[in-house]
Amino acid sequence: MTSLITVEKEKLENPPLDIHFLGDRALRQPAKRIAKVDDSIRKLAKEMLQTMYSSQGIGLAAPQVAIQKQLIVVDCEPDNPANSPLILINPKITVFSKELCVVEEGCLSIPGVYLDVTRPKAIEVSFKDEQGKPRKIQATELLARVIQHEMDHLNGVMFVDRVDNDLALTEQLQKKGFSRGAVKPVKS
Ligand SMILES: [Zn+2]
Repeated sequence: MTSLITVEKEKLENPPLDIHFLGDRALRQPAKRIAKVDDSIRKLAKEMLQTMYSSQGIGLAAPQVAIQKQLIVVDCEPDNPANSPLILINPKITVFSKELCVVEEGCLSIPGVYLDVTRPKAIEVSFKDEQGKPRKIQATELLARVIQHEMDHLNGVMFVDRVDNDLALTEQLQKKGFSRGAVKPVKS
């Protein structure tokens, strides 16, 4: 697919957007549906990608830059210039696999904290792309993982809310200077 958005995969000295961190209220607000995919949305997606690449992330959701819109960007191969990033607008997961898997996750909003999270192994997700075209993809492994993690952000959920190992969670957050009280456990 040819993208309307071209972004150099490089680390900028001054990325266009500021990433907010665990404990910030912006991360806990639900994002709103995007009614129209226009140039302002494409500009936001581009700036989110530049910010993500600058922080060496593989996914970023708009609430992480304090913008309450249902937009996420993903690139599982940030070091491969040939791999096009995915831009998902108003994403909806239509199928979750019964099979679950445990994978260690991290988050640009909780730097330095890496913990195991259990999630479905594969998903099917519907969304609009940056041209406003409806699309549907099947994702497994890392891509399924990143999309689920980023989509949680659209609902104000952080990956630490899904961590089962309470001891490791408390220890890591403390080590990195985050408040344990900022975690809001979700019952799955
Ligand atoms: Zn995250």
